[in-house]
Amino acid sequence: MNVVVVSNRVARAKADEPLAGGLAAALLPMVRDSGAIWVGSSGEPSHAPQTRDSFAKIEALGSGALATVDMPVKHYRGYYEGFANSALWPALHSRPDLIHVTVDDYTSYCEVNAFMSRELVRFNSAEAVFWIQDYHFLTLGAELRRAGIERPLGFFLHTPWADRRTMTAVPHCNDLADAMLAYDLIGFQTVEDRQNFEDYLRTELDLNIVDGTVASHWGLTQLATFPIGIDVEEFSARAIKSICRAEVVRLRDSLNGAKLVLGVDRLDYSKGLANRMRAFDRMFEIEPGLKRAVALLQVAVPSRGNIKAYRELKAELAGLVGEVNGRHGEVDWTPIRYLNKGFSQLTLAGFYRLASVGLVTPLHDGMNLVAKEYVAAQNPFDPGVLVLSSFAGAARELDAALQINPHDIDGMARQISAALRMSLEERRERFQSMVHKLKAASVQSWFADFLHTLADVRRTPLQAATRPIVLELASRRAALGR
Ligand code: UDP
Repeated sequence: MNVVVVSNRVARAKADEPLAGGLAAALLPMVRDSGAIWVGSSGEPSHAPQTRDSFAKIEALGSGALATVDMPVKHYRGYYEGFANSALWPALHSRPDLIHVTVDDYTSYCEVNAFMSRELVRFNSAEAVFWIQDYHFLTLGAELRRAGIERPLGFFLHTPWADRRTMTAVPHCNDLADAMLAYDLIGFQTVEDRQNFEDYLRTELDLNIVDGTVASHWGLTQLATFPIGIDVEEFSARAIKSICRAEVVRLRDSLNGAKLVLGVDRLDYSKGLANRMRAFDRMFEIEPGLKRAVALLQVAVPSRGNIKAYRELKAELAGLVGEVNGRHGEVDWTPIRYLNKGFSQLTLAGFYRLASVGLVTPLHDGMNLVAKEYVAAQNPFDPGVLVLSSFAGAARELDAALQINPHDIDGMARQISAALRMSLEERRERFQSMVHKLKAASVQSWFADFLHTLADVRRTPLQAATRPIVLELASRRAALGR
């Protein structure tokens, strides 16, 4: 099959540059090794009317390819900064109070989805399979069907799907959920996200779901869970290689024997950065003996800086870091080192390995690959401790991490200090348990499982007329407990 992966942006394989996020980190090696073609925005919206030959620039990526499209400038802002990131993102991450959109933003979102469907027609073939990624393209499947594409359509949501009441705060959410059912397969990070979506369909759209299958006017849609993973061996090898990189050596030398606590996040309100700083502050109040013995390095990569909520967060964090450092710092020791820039994954791997504690405290996160990368990068003989929010998708698999409630500042402070004091034996046990689970659910198996399931869903097509009957029978069988 010819796999066509679609996301808002594509990533390039430059070893010394930071990646834009978890989606890029997962797809880059998969497209490179699988021969898929990855289509996304060039990041340079165009004024020019799109003609059939003017847009997709295609370049090789290992055995696969990247195709970039100049999105229409008239709609890009309303689509990206507007509806996608000021309505969908906050709601999906349980922050409906941050929804701030206009009716034009919704129009632009639909226009860009329709535009992308027109661009994708050229990649259609008798062997094509379309795999659409993330909340930017909820209505793309419906547009592709309207454009006459009959090939398998899969969709994977990298973010959470919040509870039903929260999602109803998104304007036009019923139309969006309905359009999503044009996909043959919808994948979620966790069982809870899938259940929230099912609840939405049942309650808001009055649909029946039997064994994860939904029948709608679009046909049948399978709902399933595919937690995204990482390549553990690759990350571990990177960490070993990276430990002698100049930046990593400088970091180690600068610690003067203090233990390193590390946070690595996009600067996003979903990541719980403010509470993390407060917990670090509180920890020094509870245990003044930890002063000078520990330092937090927080990498906070600037993100979506044109959106007010992100600018406000940036200002809040800068103030908070100043306060904590002002309160506890000394001439030769700074409690929080706060950097607004990104690092390559190679350098990050070295930082991870150096850190005694990996601090991952989101208020809500689809998965959080940083948590998994931190574990994979540890020295098995002397591993660090992962302190992980129970609101991250990764907490389902990484149940041997020290789990925290990111709203409980005092509890978080105590767990960070417990992580710093943990015995070697306990650290090894926790590490072994987590690394075992990470190896069993790699990014390779995520990619392959999704595509196999998509192929299976379509291998047994049902005639439209027989679909309701089959579902009714399945429902009766389930009721009879057979
Ligand atoms: N990342 C990076 N450089 C940085 C910070 C992060 O390459 O300076 C990568 C990191 O290795 C991880 C991804 O960006 O693979 C972040 O993914 P995650 O799922 O943790 O969060 P997201 O940004 O997708 O919300």
